[in-house]
Amino acid sequence: MQGHGRRMGGPGGHYMTEEEKKAQPKITKALVTRVFSYLKPYWKQFILVIVCIAVSSIFGLLPSILTGKIIDDGLIGRNMEMLIFYIVLSFAVTLAANLIGVAESYINIWIAQHITFDMRNQMFRHLERMSQRFFTTNNQGDIITRMTSDIDGVQSVITDTFKSILSNTITLAFALAAMFQKNWIMALLGICVIPLFIIPTRRAGKVRWSLTNEAQAANDQVNGILNETLSVSGQLLVKLFGKEEQEYRRYEEVNARMMKLNIKERMAGRWFFMILRTFTSIGPMLLYLAGGILMMRYDSDLTVGDITVLVALLGKTYMPVNSLLNIQVDWMRSMALFSRVFDYFDMPVEIKDPEKPVTPQTSTGEVSFSHVDFSYEPGRQTLKDVTFSLEAGKSIAIVGPSGSGKSTIINLIPRLYDAQKGVVTFDGVDVRQLPLSYLREHVGVVSQETYLFNGSIRENLLYADPDATEEEMLDACRRANIYDFIASQEAGLDTLVGNRGLKLSGGEKQRISIARVLLKDPTLLIFDEATSALDSISESKIQEAIEPIIKERTSILIAHRLSTILAADEILVVKDGCVVERGTHHDLVNAGGVYTELYNTQFQHKDEEEEQAALRQKVASSGYTEGENTWDDPDLPENKELKDLLMGRK
Ligand code: ATP
Repeated sequence: MQGHGRRMGGPGGHYMTEEEKKAQPKITKALVTRVFSYLKPYWKQFILVIVCIAVSSIFGLLPSILTGKIIDDGLIGRNMEMLIFYIVLSFAVTLAANLIGVAESYINIWIAQHITFDMRNQMFRHLERMSQRFFTTNNQGDIITRMTSDIDGVQSVITDTFKSILSNTITLAFALAAMFQKNWIMALLGICVIPLFIIPTRRAGKVRWSLTNEAQAANDQVNGILNETLSVSGQLLVKLFGKEEQEYRRYEEVNARMMKLNIKERMAGRWFFMILRTFTSIGPMLLYLAGGILMMRYDSDLTVGDITVLVALLGKTYMPVNSLLNIQVDWMRSMALFSRVFDYFDMPVEIKDPEKPVTPQTSTGEVSFSHVDFSYEPGRQTLKDVTFSLEAGKSIAIVGPSGSGKSTIINLIPRLYDAQKGVVTFDGVDVRQLPLSYLREHVGVVSQETYLFNGSIRENLLYADPDATEEEMLDACRRANIYDFIASQEAGLDTLVGNRGLKLSGGEKQRISIARVLLKDPTLLIFDEATSALDSISESKIQEAIEPIIKERTSILIAHRLSTILAADEILVVKDGCVVERGTHHDLVNAGGVYTELYNTQFQHKDEEEEQAALRQKVASSGYTEGENTWDDPDLPENKELKDLLMGRK
């Protein structure tokens, strides 16, 4: 419904697109019951709406019926009193119908807003419980669309579709009843006349709709050409290649097509109204004729007023009949919307709290993996028979080639995913038996992709512990080696980090997220070292922060740099989803295995690179300018080093 905006207003909004036809939901009793279950909490208000709709529909018809009285009793009967009485009554009834209409709109909107409020909350809750897998496989745009436009669409279903069904059915039923009550022959004739003006309008609507679509497509094409050729780089290309004439012709051609389609569409509109007017006037004429025949030839007791009332009521049936014929499409669309929303609600929550949770007395942060197999997608195993344990208070560095499964291993600890085989324990208990809140409280992760909310540093820190005092926050910043940076900022802790923390450097962001995790004070700290290049100063600052922290608590580091690896008590080498080696740097470096290879190809190399980068940094800050070798004391060992470096590079 949403997203087809341009198709809604016109007469053509009542035809389904091919796409919609294909995506038609199966309207089952269960679906309808479920839709109505959202109305349940508001059933009292809903009944009030029905009453209001009924009363205002009936009141809306009364003036037509009173016209008969005005004519027969007032005008033909030449009774001034009656004339004025019925006129005033007519007016009062119309006023009342409109006032009730306002009240009905209010209650209707109120119900619709409350239902969407409930649905949005329910959806948000549900999405919050969805697993990491859900967010990595679903497009973020889709998720947001469900939350916003689809649920908004649901709201218009309630305010428009339901109301339309109710009010049109009531109006139609009442008008027909009133017609039959007046004269059944005329009423039957009236019913036969209705298709006369319904069919042509629907036909015209269809034609117009397809023309609107074609014109819209041409219009999109025109816009495309404009965007391409009138943009800064586009026009440059056109100029440089001398394609002005060719582009002009292309534009003119589409423009001409759009013009012709627009004329056709506008004219279809005229035809539409012409047909509508002609046919709507045939109906009343036929009724007048039939009424006349009945009155004059068959001596019926029909009065002039009665015939006028019948004609007026016939006119009132046109709209409801037309709308009710369109309802099927609206109803389909509405159900499609609901089922899209329900599809989301029905996605199973993969990571659930255990039914009988086990809560350990104290948390030490110890972790063990026992024969763990895991795959993100069926048929592609990411972890194979991973077994290792990490004692309380110790630290372990996980190393391995990119894509070997390091992050996957740590994802299993806070249950971002569950292993398909084997057991992961935390604090000695299978993670699937621990309350999720316990697990998430005691496991702290500093991920590679640091996420900061758009707000101040303070707000980001308080996210970990809303009760943290200023002193605690500053202390965490000191320990995360970010204090100096914060102190150097004019606004201090209130410095804004920008959208996703983009106003900060990668290193600053990571140190703030270390401070944030320190405030959370988990018993197990997981640090996923950034693979992206940070400059050596940022890196050493992170290093300085991390080292003492991992000494004081159980930690797992995914390490890409030798210095981080060396900071850990032990090393776990992962390759192709398997743990292939385990030991200290000393044990592994000369063992001739994967670690030796990694050391030779990556870490050592990286180390040299880091050293060189540090030296280059020193060169830059020493005031040295090429060509005039002027640093303060060329004999200082440090400067000697610089000189060598420079010579070497030259
Ligand atoms: P890096 O050092 O580059 O971060 P890694 O060792 O941490 O790599 P993982 O992120 O654990 O590697 O990925 C292991 C394998 O699982 C890779 O082949 C990766 O493509 C795949 N993978 C990771 N995340 C997902 C996901 N959400 N869905 C499907 N496959 C995934």
